[in-house]
Amino acid sequence: MPNTLMPNYARLPVTFVKGEGAWLWDTQGIRYLDAVAGVAVCGLGHAHPAISAAICEQVKQLIHTSNLYGIAHQQTLADELTRRSGMETAFFCNSGAEANEAAIKIARLYGHQRGFSHPNIIVTERSFHGRTLATLSASGNLKIQAGFDPLVPGFIRVPYNDVSAMTQAAEQHPDIVAVLVEPIIGEGGIIIPDDDYLIKVRALCDHHNWLLMLDEIQTGMGRTGKWFAYQHTGILPEVLTIAKGLGNGIPIGACLARGKVAEIFKPGTHGSTFGGNPLACRTALAVIKTIEEENLLPRVTELSQRFVKGFTEKLAGLNGVLEIRVRGLMIGIELDRGCGQLATKALQKQLLINVTAERVIRLLPPFIISDTQADDIIATVSYLIKEYLSLPAPNF
Ligand SMILES: *Cc1c(COP(=O)(O)O)cnc(C)c1O
Repeated sequence: MPNTLMPNYARLPVTFVKGEGAWLWDTQGIRYLDAVAGVAVCGLGHAHPAISAAICEQVKQLIHTSNLYGIAHQQTLADELTRRSGMETAFFCNSGAEANEAAIKIARLYGHQRGFSHPNIIVTERSFHGRTLATLSASGNLKIQAGFDPLVPGFIRVPYNDVSAMTQAAEQHPDIVAVLVEPIIGEGGIIIPDDDYLIKVRALCDHHNWLLMLDEIQTGMGRTGKWFAYQHTGILPEVLTIAKGLGNGIPIGACLARGKVAEIFKPGTHGSTFGGNPLACRTALAVIKTIEEENLLPRVTELSQRFVKGFTEKLAGLNGVLEIRVRGLMIGIELDRGCGQLATKALQKQLLINVTAERVIRLLPPFIISDTQADDIIATVSYLIKEYLSLPAPNF
């Protein structure tokens, strides 16, 4: 049979048909432990009863009406998100890339207001902001840009975790209006900057009247143990983008804004047919409520410490293991060599893991995993790494 799907994904040879919590079952009825959670999407695990119930109820009531009319759940969701983030307004869309498109458009409008005909946005190396033309142009990854020239102009790239490079960029380019940055680099390999990085970037933005725009599409919605990663630092951005964990699998993204750009979008400047529809917003409201009712933010921190301890005990100092990086339930283990095949090896052991940036094992487990499941992930991943590095494997 001809393949009717475009061949743009390198998929693992498995298809899942059912999920429950951190478990997934394939077409053969084999059960897998999920340490990827649909790439940081299903923080509450699969088929969470509260989320499924909210979705079912809303589906029976109303799915979509469009933004030609008021949407009560959209308003409530904007209230709940702005209250928790310290932001002032929200625009809803359907994905992370779309949330960043909104952010980039806000920066352009802001730049034009300030009299710049060609406003520039500072972005960083190793960043990932999406696959649309503007967001792939903003991303610091040549592979995702290859073949898509001409790229969207208006981005100035500096190394990540390097404030002096931003200061230098400011001296060379008088038309910078914003910085777009991930508080922790996700796709680029779980890179955690210095504790004061965001604070210094914030100060630089204040000094130059730039917008600080944080891409929290992967780090947001509790992934790091707080609602948003910048809340570990005490600063506030002007623009915040979120998506992945927001709907636990129902597609929804949001761009939140504050201060001088809170109301910069006027009727006609931006929009989305599906964005913020009753089903997506009702689901996101259930996600927020469940994270709170199940006290999952402190649980993320508790689990995080368990992973740090477990992986440090089993892997730290091993030849071939360069670094173990953990913030909340974003876990990166960097090896000294490419290790893409470890995802297949893990699959054979009924465990789902991810490898990103060629040699970083990335784990993004759901917040609802048990201690036992966390220990199983630590044991299997450590075993696989040791085996891969051809070190004596532990007995178990
Ligand atoms: C996943 C991701 C995106 C893109 O989100 P999509 O929903 O795939 O468009 C953007 N930025 C970051 C930091 C991400 O992790």
